Amino acid sequence: MHLHPCNKYFFIKSTLLVLITAMLVACTHQEIKKETGLDKLMKGNQRFASLRPTHPNEDQKHMLEESKAQHPFAVVVCCSDSRVAPELIFDQGIGDLFVIRTAGNIIGGLELGSIEYAVEHFKCKLIVVLGHENCGAIKAFIDHDEAPGHIKEIIDSITKESEIKAISINDKDRLDHSVIANTIHVSKQISAQSSLIKEKIDNKQLQIVASRYDLNDFKVSILKY
Ligand SMILES: [Zn+2]
Repeated sequence: MHLHPCNKYFFIKSTLLVLITAMLVACTHQEIKKETGLDKLMKGNQRFASLRPTHPNEDQKHMLEESKAQHPFAVVVCCSDSRVAPELIFDQGIGDLFVIRTAGNIIGGLELGSIEYAVEHFKCKLIVVLGHENCGAIKAFIDHDEAPGHIKEIIDSITKESEIKAISINDKDRLDHSVIANTIHVSKQISAQSSLIKEKIDNKQLQIVASRYDLNDFKVSILKY
């Protein structure tokens, strides 16, 4: 086919335009389908709960790379309970999660500082607060256990939570409902007490998710609040 120079120029220009448009559409599509940090955690939990963990990022090469600088993609605030190990539950590896653990996943200034540090320095875009079934700290609060030493500070902190106070003492499922209330309380507390975190949430740069881990079926569920 013989094209006039003007037509030839027009043909090349049109072809380029079509190609660029196609590339842009492909990029946008890829962006939409991009896996979020929460997707990654929930997929990991599905592997763990179905007893098919892959134990990613535990090879020597990866660990040596992480020794130079860490790149956690999520902050997890959870209970110190020995059965609630976040890297195992979410099937993640070395350098993936920045974890803050206290009994009853309660937080104060020091814990907030750790969360802020991860958000600020490692640009984590996700904070997951993970409560769990049959939490001993919540149970101690319900049972009015006599708490010696600094353990009392944990119970006192839980006692002050408005979401927990709202649950009836006659609730047949009081322990589990209190676990959920506590987890939601901590999730709200993080943004309420940290202007740094609140600003990032308002600017859609950060997300806080409340969740509950079930000790019997090994599944994590997202809590709505
Ligand atoms: Zn616990």
